[in-house]
Amino acid sequence: MSERVTCPRCGDYVDGGGVCPECLERARATRRENLQGELALRRLSGHFYLLGMLGAFASVFGGLAVSATRTGYVALGVGVAVCVAVFALGHGVARLRPWSVVGARVIGVLLLFAFPLGTLLGLEALYVTVRYRELSRAEYREIVALTPELDEPPIPVWQWVVIALLVAAIPAWFLLRAG
Ligand SMILES: [Zn+2]
Repeated sequence: MSERVTCPRCGDYVDGGGVCPECLERARATRRENLQGELALRRLSGHFYLLGMLGAFASVFGGLAVSATRTGYVALGVGVAVCVAVFALGHGVARLRPWSVVGARVIGVLLLFAFPLGTLLGLEALYVTVRYRELSRAEYREIVALTPELDEPPIPVWQWVVIALLVAAIPAWFLLRAG
């Protein structure tokens, strides 16, 4: 005989514990309604990753090429630190973390001034984090945790390696032409 315990979401008794079938079905329905928003946030996260990668490579290549002075190294360090922060932001956005939504808006506003690509990314960051703000709430993350079968598979590491190499080629190409 399995023990009868209450469903943590509605309080009804349920055999064997866990969430009752009705609550699970409601969670699935809510999740399906919001998959579009999740996709938009994942896309934004990917764009932050790209921005972080491009910035990191540009900082390193640029720092190495320009100057071996103390100022050069400080600029290099600051550049890399900003890129690490952008990476962390991308990571948080993909995982629907509330702090990352706030961070994405701050970076989004700053990016608006980097016309034209930065402006586009800034607008995307502001639009997506306002339009889909409900998805970063704790209630929604609970629903996500209940419905892992609806998760999109993550991008495999080898694809990120290929993307990183392609992105690294951009500052490298500029430097070779300039040098
Ligand atoms: Zn329930």
